[in-house]
Amino acid sequence: MAAPILEIENLTVSFDGFKALNNLTFAMQPGELRVIIGPNGAGKTTFLDIITGKVQPTSGTVRFKGKDLRKIPEHQISRLGIGRKFQTPRVYLNLTVRENLDLATNRRKNVLATLLRKPTGGDRQTIIRLLETISLSSKADFPANLLSHGEKQRLEIGMLVAQSPDLLLVDEPVAGLTDEETERVGDLLISLAQSHSIIVIEHDMEFVRQIARQVTVLHQGSVLCEGTMDEIQDDPRVIEVYLGQAPTVTPDQMRILRIAAAMAWADGNFAPEQMRVILNRLSQQFSNDPAHQAELREELKNYLGKEISLETLVPQITTEEERETVLRLSYEIIRSNRINEAGTVVYQKLLEFLNLPPAMVQTIEAEIEAQYAEVAPVQDMASSQDTPPVETEDLPPSETR
Ligand code: ADP
Ligand code: MG
Repeated sequence: MAAPILEIENLTVSFDGFKALNNLTFAMQPGELRVIIGPNGAGKTTFLDIITGKVQPTSGTVRFKGKDLRKIPEHQISRLGIGRKFQTPRVYLNLTVRENLDLATNRRKNVLATLLRKPTGGDRQTIIRLLETISLSSKADFPANLLSHGEKQRLEIGMLVAQSPDLLLVDEPVAGLTDEETERVGDLLISLAQSHSIIVIEHDMEFVRQIARQVTVLHQGSVLCEGTMDEIQDDPRVIEVYLGQAPTVTPDQMRILRIAAAMAWADGNFAPEQMRVILNRLSQQFSNDPAHQAELREELKNYLGKEISLETLVPQITTEEERETVLRLSYEIIRSNRINEAGTVVYQKLLEFLNLPPAMVQTIEAEIEAQYAEVAPVQDMASSQDTPPVETEDLPPSETR
C-alpha cells in the first residue's frame, strides 16, 4: 500500500474547552474518494478547517504527503496541493466561464494581467479539457451570472481543479441542486477521482450513495465508524446517531413535498408569514412528530428558492395514489395562498406531467374548493378592520397519510 496522502492522529481541537474534534484519527490513500458524513455539530467543517490550516489543533498531528501541516501557515498549505471548495460558489459573475477558468489556472497573477495577456497554446488546451470535464464547453463564453446554480457549482469545481491540487476538499456540493444537477456533480466528482484524492462532506444520502466508495462517519468530534455505504447503513451506532435523526418521510414522500413547495414558489414573492404557513402545512403531511416536522421544515426551506424540474421529479412518482397526493397538496397550496398566475401556469404543467384522469382532477379540485368555501367567512372577517386578525395557520384539516 502507498503512503497515505493524509494522515491524522489523535487530533483534538478545543474551543474554550469544548472539543469540536476529540482524539480523531483518520487516514486516506492517494486516489481515494472519501465521503464524510455525520449529524450537525459532529465536527465536519472543523475537520476541513484543520486540513487547510484555518484552525490550529490543540493537540495531535496532521500530515499531508508526509509533511507535518502544523508548522505551515494557511496560505502555504494551499500551495502544497490542497484545494477547498466552499459551500456557496465563489466565481466571478461578470467574467465568462472561460475567463474564470483562465484566472484559476493563473491564480498567482492578478485579474487584470490574466485578462490582458494572450493565453499560451498549452493554457488554451488545458482550459478546453477542463471545459469538457465540467461539461460546460457549450457555455464557455457565457458570463458566469447566466449559469444555473448547478453549473456554477461545476464551474467552481473546475476552477479548483485548474489549480492542480493533489487533494480536493469539497463541502456540501449539492445542497439546493435539482436531482439532475446533483447527478451531474456526482459524475464529475467520480471522474475527477481518477486523477485526484477527494474528500466530500455531504448530507444528501442519495448523493452519497451515488458517489461513495468509502464513508467515514463523524460523531462528537471522533470517527464513529468507516465502511462502504451498505456497511455503515446497517451499523446500529450509525442508525442511532445519524440516520435515526433523518426525517421519517420516504424519498417518494420527500419528492411529493418538493413538488408542492415548487408550486408555492412559482409565485415568487410571498410574505415570510405566508412561507411559514406553507412550510407548516407541508411538514404535517406525512409526519405527526413535532421534531421531525421541524427538521422537514428546515429541509424544505432549501427547496423553496430553487428551480425544480417537474419533468424529472414527477415521473419518479410511481403510484397513482401518490400522484393524487401531489395534486391535492399542490392545489391546496395554490388555493389557500392565492398564488398568482405564474403559479397557475406551473400548476397546468404539473397536471400535464401527472396525467391523472380529468374526472379525478375535477373532483379533487371541487373538494378543495368546497373546504375553502367553508372557511371563507373567517378570512373576510380577518380583513375587516374592527376584528382582530385571525391566525392564518388554520388551514382546512388534512389527513396524515
Ligand atoms: P459540523 O460541520 O459537523 O456541523 P462543526 O465542525 O461546524 O460541525 O462544529 C462542531 C462543533 O464545534 C459544534 O458544536 C460547533 O458549535 C463548535 N464550533 C465550531 N467552530 C467553533 C468556534 N470557532 N468556536 C466555538 N465553537 C465552535
Ligand atoms: Mg458544517
